[in-house]
Amino acid sequence: MSKFDKVIKNGTIVTASDTYKGDIGIKDGIIVEISQNLEGDNVIDASGKLIIPGGIDAHTHLDMPFGGTFSSDDFESGSKAAAIGGTTSFIDYSIQPAGGTLADAVNIWKEKGSKSCVDYGLHVAITKADENALAEIPTMVKEGITSFKVFMVYDAMRVNDAAFMNILEKSKEHGALVGVHCENYHVINHRTKQLLEAGKTEPKYHAVSRPATCEGEAANRAITLAKLTNAPLYIVHNSCEESISRIKEAREAGLPIMGETCPQYVMLSEDNYDEPGFNGAKYVMSPPLRSNKNWDYIWQQLKDGVIQTVATDHCPFFMKQKELGKDDFTKIPNGGPGIETRMSIMLSEGPKHGLSLNKVVEVTSTNVAKIFGMYPKKGTIAVGSDADLVLYDENKEVTLTKDVLHENVDYTAYEGIKVNGYPVMTLSRGDVIAKDGEYIGENNRGEFIKRGKSIVL
Ligand SMILES: [Zn+2]
Repeated sequence: MSKFDKVIKNGTIVTASDTYKGDIGIKDGIIVEISQNLEGDNVIDASGKLIIPGGIDAHTHLDMPFGGTFSSDDFESGSKAAAIGGTTSFIDYSIQPAGGTLADAVNIWKEKGSKSCVDYGLHVAITKADENALAEIPTMVKEGITSFKVFMVYDAMRVNDAAFMNILEKSKEHGALVGVHCENYHVINHRTKQLLEAGKTEPKYHAVSRPATCEGEAANRAITLAKLTNAPLYIVHNSCEESISRIKEAREAGLPIMGETCPQYVMLSEDNYDEPGFNGAKYVMSPPLRSNKNWDYIWQQLKDGVIQTVATDHCPFFMKQKELGKDDFTKIPNGGPGIETRMSIMLSEGPKHGLSLNKVVEVTSTNVAKIFGMYPKKGTIAVGSDADLVLYDENKEVTLTKDVLHENVDYTAYEGIKVNGYPVMTLSRGDVIAKDGEYIGENNRGEFIKRGKSIVL
């Protein structure tokens, strides 16, 4: 009997820190040996392929209620699309329901998550930071939910600055990390009212209603509150220089402030809102797409480590659902797809913008695992780590279109974009779950990830 359940041979292993030829021996879903000339009964030949740690998406919204509808990927379809695209773990946002507790949020989302085909964790968005909710924070941490989210916008979810400070203080006390969606609520309301009164109801006015300056202002305020409470902070989905420069400044001052961006903010721009008819609605998300002048800046900050992670904010809606806002952009469900395309876009585009493949692995997997308490079980290729692995073919050119993707939605924002490399096999805890653009694993095989404490990067 072989020492290994599976051996991956002849591949080039790429981690955040190394690139080398090696064979990987897997037993019971764990990497148990990395060396050369490993033998086994069950061999996967990775000749000519790169082997990278499975992608980890820190920001998804599967089966999420929004504006009277639900995002169209549930945990089954979303996790399958993730797997095919080279992502083996994700952290979804559970949301404290109106009148409910944090535990209610977790119970509702674990029920949804029972259908996941890859491993998943949960953040909890705290929408009412009363004494009871704050008192639940230590219990959540013990259950492996070590990050909380604060919204500075959205009527149903936002908290005020005092509540935000309470959440920062309590989270810090118990070793949890707070993530924040930064935009200025009042500015957006003010602008929206003016636009609607002027009859400006088309999708493109969504972006006009929430300019980059109001993201920068909110980031600055969030950082100020973190500084006042001496707490670490993670700013989600940074879209522009206005917010990222605030993070840069804070980090230069030695503050534990971290940031995330998403592929849409380096690949797409506000010009997309001008697409004919109602097509601009495809890109209605918050923060909105910005001027393409931000792209180089964002790539540079990723390269320099000012921004540590690339997530998706995957939150797809069919065009039919987007049509809820046909006559009023404020009623268009916010969000777009991306869980399946993140890895191929970053692996293909990153090197064109000065990021080594090691750096791409770092920002799409390793840093995410560190910041969200999953390292080194997830996020690297090492003895003792889960065998969450992706075989990546650098020579496989793919034109991204709706037809080659598996997200449960009728468009991709990346239609027609060519990537010069593609994931061809995905393993999750040693199981081959996706191959050549098909999901081939079992259903409901994903496990809830009990996360530990954050490493501040
Ligand atoms: Zn989001």
